[in-house]
Amino acid sequence: MDSAHLAADLEHVLLTEEQLIGRIQELADTIHADYPDEEVLFVGVLKGAVMVMADLARAMPRHVEMDWMAVSSYGSGTTSSGVVRILKDLDANIEGRHVILVEDILDSGLTLTWLIKNLGSRKPKSIEVFTLLRKPDAMKVPVNAKYVGFDIPNEFVVGYGLDYSQKYRNLRCVATLAPHVYTS
Ligand code: 5GP
Ligand code: MG
Repeated sequence: MDSAHLAADLEHVLLTEEQLIGRIQELADTIHADYPDEEVLFVGVLKGAVMVMADLARAMPRHVEMDWMAVSSYGSGTTSSGVVRILKDLDANIEGRHVILVEDILDSGLTLTWLIKNLGSRKPKSIEVFTLLRKPDAMKVPVNAKYVGFDIPNEFVVGYGLDYSQKYRNLRCVATLAPHVYTS
């Protein structure tokens, strides 16, 4: 889905498909250089990371494995409590492996902090974070994300995997929503 198919729903496009793909390619080259002779396992967090995982994995000039986790935060909807429940665990055993956690967006950092601790207890050889987007609030709970696509303002964004009520994930770009979408 292109922004033109949704013009009435979108306020402005923050990042075009070209910008997203270009930056992901740069970061794929960096990751390739950072692990010269070693295998890397990408762990994606469902569902938001599906698009970035698909493009990041294909941008890598070598074999990579992909695995997936699905998690949900306990508690009331809007504020992240930091207490996380695993809905789908990894298929792979990560002991002794280099893991890169692949996320769509780093906001409060609560989810990633929990995930890093959980995966860290499984004795991986190393664990790093790749996040396509990072918001200013990411500073509240410091998460050391080694690979960051774009720092964005503190606005609610959709597209390229990110949803509003499970919609807009298949939008090619990252955009903000027009106010009438929230209020209708
Ligand atoms: P946190 O870092 O606050 O623990 O959680 C980040 C999660 O909140 C993301 O994985 C995503 O599901 C959701 N989130 C945070 N900011 C946004 C946003 O601007 N748009 C969308 N669609 N989801 C967001
Ligand atoms: Mg997410």
